[in-house]
Amino acid sequence: MAVLLDGKTMAAQLTEGLKKRVEALKEKGVTPGLAVILVGEDPASQVYVRNKGKACDELGMYSETIRLPQETKQEELEALIEKLNRDDRIHGILVQLPLPKALNEAAALRRIIPEKDVDGFHIENAGKLFTGQTGVVACTPKGILHMLKAANVPLSGKEAVVIGRSNIVGKPVAMLLLNENCTVTICHSRTADLASHTRRADILIAAVGKPRFVTADMVKPGAAVVDVGINRVDGKVVGDVDFEAVEKVAGYISPVPGGVGKMTIGMLMENTVEAAERKAK
Ligand code: NAD
Repeated sequence: MAVLLDGKTMAAQLTEGLKKRVEALKEKGVTPGLAVILVGEDPASQVYVRNKGKACDELGMYSETIRLPQETKQEELEALIEKLNRDDRIHGILVQLPLPKALNEAAALRRIIPEKDVDGFHIENAGKLFTGQTGVVACTPKGILHMLKAANVPLSGKEAVVIGRSNIVGKPVAMLLLNENCTVTICHSRTADLASHTRRADILIAAVGKPRFVTADMVKPGAAVVDVGINRVDGKVVGDVDFEAVEKVAGYISPVPGGVGKMTIGMLMENTVEAAERKAK
């Protein structure tokens, strides 16, 4: 049976460390602050935004959620971002995605000054990751790497296969694994014979968005399988991995819920605390 990559426990440990860092900052007169912008009424986004606010409260951080109507104009959104860029109480700015279709996501993200881009989606931070420089790393990929390292999964020289090539998960996690000296393959919707790749993987990251897509026959015995997917099936949240079957084959496996999702919020808090620490220096 696979070792559980328990996001809940790992995130709780992370929180304990962050609490101390927040206290140390407060002693210097700095309270880390996060501003979250939510445009429209997307139900999943409402839940995510609420959870981010709660995580800030738990750490004694300052947080602000700014809710804008669905019909918000691009100029209005960008003017708000500019205002938050100048606000000294705010160390991190997050625009909850997806934005309504009429808005230009990339242009909005580029408005956030890179120092406050705690999601790590700004082109400057993405570029730094791809060129091996220190910048803000996107929360989900950072959380995945944290999980693997916390469980002492060997990385250097190992075969890593990432299913999914999105800018927010697939590509950045592939880059992080490459920086850890894994040999990385990125698979996607046009990959021929996907299983021939996944079966070679010592580390398999599933970021597809299809319920129970990764089956036991696709997994190398003993592999570390990280399930990023969040899919709603009959009112239940399930991942991209057929957990019950794969846990019998894998060496390590992350559950959904209670896996990567927990780490993502934890890393958002860490990125915000780090931004405040940089500012306080
Ligand atoms: P996306 O839709 O942008 O990307 C999905 C990727 O899967 C694409 O690159 C596509 O090429 C690939 N894909 C689709 N069908 C495939 C197939 N048949 N074979 C191989 N590859 C295929 O999604 P995303 O934003 O990267 O998110 C992926 C999943 O992770 C979603 O379920 C999302 O909800 C979840 N997610 C979770 C967290 C978290 O914190 N846990 C964060 C971000 C995203």
